[in-house]
Amino acid sequence: MKLDLRNNLKKYKRPFLIAGPCSVESEEQVMEVAMAIAVKTKPALLRGGIWKPRTRPDSFEGVGTIGLPWLINAGKKVGIPVTTEVANAKHVEAALEAGVDVLWVGARTTVNPFAVQEIADAIQGTDITVMVKNPINPDLMLWVGAFERFQKAGIQDLVAIHRGFSVYKHPKYRNVPNWEIPIGLMEEMPEIPVICDPSHISGERDGLLHVAQKAMDLNFAGLMIETHSHPDKAWSDAKQQITPAQLKILMDQLILRKASIHGEDIGFIEIQRKKIAEIDDQLFELLKQRMQISRAVGDYKKENGVTILQTEHWKKIIEQRLSKANELELSIDFLRSVLDAIHQESIRHQTEVMNPGMK
Ligand code: PEP
Ligand code: MN
Repeated sequence: MKLDLRNNLKKYKRPFLIAGPCSVESEEQVMEVAMAIAVKTKPALLRGGIWKPRTRPDSFEGVGTIGLPWLINAGKKVGIPVTTEVANAKHVEAALEAGVDVLWVGARTTVNPFAVQEIADAIQGTDITVMVKNPINPDLMLWVGAFERFQKAGIQDLVAIHRGFSVYKHPKYRNVPNWEIPIGLMEEMPEIPVICDPSHISGERDGLLHVAQKAMDLNFAGLMIETHSHPDKAWSDAKQQITPAQLKILMDQLILRKASIHGEDIGFIEIQRKKIAEIDDQLFELLKQRMQISRAVGDYKKENGVTILQTEHWKKIIEQRLSKANELELSIDFLRSVLDAIHQESIRHQTEVMNPGMK
């Protein structure tokens, strides 16, 4: 095993940190940033994109193979293993031949099972570490499927990177975090450490700390943060990159909380958890009763030839219930999703009553 991150992650100082520029631009640029990072906040891995999948064809698409020795030499100089993105078999071949320590698969590649399979086939038989970013769309199983393809190719040392999900013009994020998806991955594949990439989630410097802190509070294993000596002049993702000095400040500001509860805290937490479990039981019992009433209404609608959905009535229900959000100290978004879920279940019950046997 080259790095065996899966088994060795605990040996690194938490959080496991990956830093370095979005793109490798020149020999001097990557050396300068590597030296500064190594002094300020020595990360566990030095990142640098050699081949850049860009949304528009006229953007900078990476320096290509010529940049591999620049990245590797910079890593060697400061004693930090290096990682770059690969998107096809040619990239894999060139990166492995040059001696890149860890490969990562980008979000635009994870989304395509053919491309993932091509990469898996190209690295079969090696002991390289592979980090897989989530697909750009919030599809947990597509992410799981990519890991399965690498596992089938005999790759054991796998790490996940959560970089958020594409969205059209979001006021807060470049890529919305949908935290339930990486949490789902932790549940599905507990053996795979999950690292968060606040740079691509936030899309701007000011949002990095908030996202990084949240990832730490959700017990993520590490962080990948784009770092550039002159961020405003970066050839890609200029708005979200920070200087090595800013990276140091960010890391110092992070509050690291312990992942398990010991000693005196246990009593208090146990009591609260019991109370929560009881409330959950009550909520479920109430939902059961609510659905029984829905079924009775379904019977009535059936006998009287009335449709399940009456749009005007449903609109009124939403308005009335959401108007209570403030008073209940619950967000409108949350109440709306609860209402939608209850409504869907209620429609399912009434459909069963009206058309028995029909799905
Ligand atoms: C990157 O890490 O620079 C990158 C292109 O990321 P993503 O695949 O998450 O868009
Ligand atoms: Mn980037």
